Amino acid sequence: MEIKTVGVVGAGQMGAGIAQVFAQAGYEVLLNDINQEALDAGLARIAKGMRRMVERGKLDAESCEAALARLKGTTVLAELGPLDLIVESATENETIKNRIFAGLKEHLGSQTLLTTNTSSISITRLASLTDRPERFMGLHFMNPVPVMQLVELIRGIATDDATFQTVRKVVENLGKTHATAEDFPAFIVNRILLPMINEAVYTLYEGVGSVDSIDKAMKLGTNHPMGPLELADFIGLDTCLAIMHVLHEGLADTKYRPCPLLVKYVEAGWLGRKSGRGFYDYRGETPVPTR
Ligand code: NAD
Repeated sequence: MEIKTVGVVGAGQMGAGIAQVFAQAGYEVLLNDINQEALDAGLARIAKGMRRMVERGKLDAESCEAALARLKGTTVLAELGPLDLIVESATENETIKNRIFAGLKEHLGSQTLLTTNTSSISITRLASLTDRPERFMGLHFMNPVPVMQLVELIRGIATDDATFQTVRKVVENLGKTHATAEDFPAFIVNRILLPMINEAVYTLYEGVGSVDSIDKAMKLGTNHPMGPLELADFIGLDTCLAIMHVLHEGLADTKYRPCPLLVKYVEAGWLGRKSGRGFYDYRGETPVPTR
């Protein structure tokens, strides 16, 4: 099956990036968000980011405008139904995701493939509540989408090979590389990354180091481009906590217990970069550690 039209649900940091790379690769893209402001902000961020690429000589002006012309926005979920491929990238919450797939159900084309960008939730369980578990799979992009090379591909128990091969080809057309992961909590990247981030928060919680010393130690001591707390802010602390809950519940092992300090930051609405404050305060010129 050839994919020409793509619907992206959720215009947050990931959904906007996903919509951008599809539009740049020549697909017709319809971006949806439940919230008009989030949709407008997502579309504006894409246009700004791409025009900045033109200024820096990384993209020619004609391709930029052609890609932007292939990208539209809507707050009406049903409009995505007839498209060839749906990429669900709304908030990391199983109830929200199930509601989205339920809302799409009666509007779906018979050919439509369903995918989710979830970081951790069971593909098989999400698929089981749709009318097409055989044409449903995980398509997990990394943040920031336009920059990161990897996409994880995750089959649910019922995903058929034609779906997997079609989506694999799409990833190739985007100029990205895939790694295949089995459908277990948080797949590969986040199964390894999130316990490290959670441990960094425990290190802060127990007073072993400050935000500054933990990030400096990991950057200079392990050659990571970002410290774990800076990275947590970049991912979004609500998303980090949601992934730790999925690992903790799904693998029933206390080693995945979310750090109470991570819970506290999320309770405060300090969600990282996207809310202006997390382990760092981003409201001034330069980020300032909050502990
Ligand atoms: P975000 O908070 O930036 O954006 C989520 C968006 O979903 C918001 O704009 C919100 O308004 C929208 N939304 C909520 N309910 C909706 C609904 N019913 N219909 C349409 N839109 C709705 O979150 P994000 O970081 O973009 O994460 C989105 C997904 O991508 C999550 O599943 C997350 O696990 C996954 N993901 C995140 C990262 C990361 O680093 N942040 C990396 C890979 C995958």
